Amino acid sequence: MFDVIVVGAGCVGSLIARKLSSYQLNVLVIEKENDVGNATSMANSAIVHSGYDPVPGTLKAKFNVLGNKMYPELCRDLDVHFEQIGSLTVALYDEQLPMLSDLAKRSKENGVDVKLLTRDEVLKLEPNLSSEVKGALLAPSAGIVNPFTLVVHAMENAVDQGVELHLNEEVKDIKGLKEGFEVITSRGTYQTKVVINCAGIYGDKIHSLIEPISYSIKARKGQYFVLDHYAKGLVNHVIFPLPSEKGKGILVSPTTSGNYIVGPSSEWCDDKDSVSCDKPTLDNVRAQAQAMVPSIPFNQVIRIFAGNRPTPSTHDFVIGPAKDNPAFINASGIESPGLVSSPAIAEYVVDELVSKVLTLVKKENWSGKVSPRAHLSEMNEAQRDEFIKKNPSYGRIICNCEKVSLGEILDELSRSVPPHSVKALKKRTRAGFGKCQGGFCQPLVIQILAEHYGVKLSEINYDKLGSEICKYSTKGEEK
Ligand SMILES: Cc1cc2nc3c(=O)[nH]c(=O)nc-3n(C[C@H](O)[C@H](O)[C@H](O)COP(=O)(O)OP(=O)(O)OC[C@H]3O[C@@H](n4cnc5c(N)ncnc54)[C@H](O)[C@@H]3O)c2cc1C
Repeated sequence: MFDVIVVGAGCVGSLIARKLSSYQLNVLVIEKENDVGNATSMANSAIVHSGYDPVPGTLKAKFNVLGNKMYPELCRDLDVHFEQIGSLTVALYDEQLPMLSDLAKRSKENGVDVKLLTRDEVLKLEPNLSSEVKGALLAPSAGIVNPFTLVVHAMENAVDQGVELHLNEEVKDIKGLKEGFEVITSRGTYQTKVVINCAGIYGDKIHSLIEPISYSIKARKGQYFVLDHYAKGLVNHVIFPLPSEKGKGILVSPTTSGNYIVGPSSEWCDDKDSVSCDKPTLDNVRAQAQAMVPSIPFNQVIRIFAGNRPTPSTHDFVIGPAKDNPAFINASGIESPGLVSSPAIAEYVVDELVSKVLTLVKKENWSGKVSPRAHLSEMNEAQRDEFIKKNPSYGRIICNCEKVSLGEILDELSRSVPPHSVKALKKRTRAGFGKCQGGFCQPLVIQILAEHYGVKLSEINYDKLGSEICKYSTKGEEK
């Protein structure tokens, strides 16, 4: 019998698993995808919001502000790229200035330091903003993070510390037993004392397996443009418009990899799994972003993508025990600002909710750190040369656009949550993320994965099981 089964390995499930791993508990994480962090946690703006915007007194406000404070140390421990670049919420019309002042008041209520800036002060910080700008709210504690490695490294840490992870396994049913639960999946049946529901957009479905529920979680899609690295200095902060009932609005921001991101839109989507983009919506994203930053070089767009916000009808995160069973704990319906909130949600769920149903005994030798990767792109030439002399595989570049070496790819394959697909490897190393979007490196990546796992090229998936890229050999027998 497991002590805890966590359903879902997005940022919330992975950080909860990491926190659970610090106690003497037998923990299983069940994830239906072929990789961790493959749903909403992969397709978002990647902003570590300061917390100026959520309605005071909500779970969103509480966990956003607490989570923001945890990010610097968390990212150091998990070797994740994080930069506290600050955000600017800009007013483009005189009528919007009182709204900026209202936001400043809300920030104070939430305990977030902000500063109102005049037009001249804003333009000095961000010369590429529209000359129409009338003022802005500066939130220095906002940041940007690499959301892919955050989830992977959090789960790697959890697995290194004893958590069991099952990928490609879907939870189909949960039955309450006299003591604990029976969790029925696509691959087996497990017994556990506690279930933590971290199923994101499917959190309502998982919760309704054990009791009737009076809320629903709907998908609200957000579509984006990604620009290549060459637009250096376009903006230095995260640039937001004023928020509305649809969310924080369409932002323009640097990413931790030196690209720029423009989006997201906000539209209801009946299909919770749909991540398609459409031209009219993207045209609207472009127009709204250009109103703030007219010189965005849209000729440097290298990718468009979409993600779905798990939006609960309760208008707040769904966090807490089930009505009639304190051992079934929900941490789902975590829409924005869920990425920034997730480390604080993990602390709360484990220390305040799991502790009510299980005796938590700290592990004596627990470490919350992963062993750091070699970051060749951050080394100078001499350091790189030295490194390559010791291990020549770091000198063989596989992805030319993002300068990713064979050595870095092999490092990832030796980790405890290794990539099994082309996309999983891309999320970890950035191979295939650049201008050619894998056009040149993808065949090599498939070959490296096939060799590592000792399988045929046609068995390597792009993403989910069944998404193989090579179908059969056109020249002789397949290798
Ligand atoms: C457009 C957009 C922009 C955003 N921008 C930001 C931002 O800038 N900053 C911020 O803080 N937040 C942002 N967010 C919100 C943030 O991305 C989410 O709050 C966060 O990723 C939610 O994480 P999660 O782990 O709850 O969900 P997910 O990442 O969706 O994880 C849930 C997991 O459960 C798995 N699962 C579901 N059902 C089952 C089952 N039956 N069996 C097994 N596994 C199952 C899924 O496969 C999935 O991997 C944004 C979201 C979107 C969509």
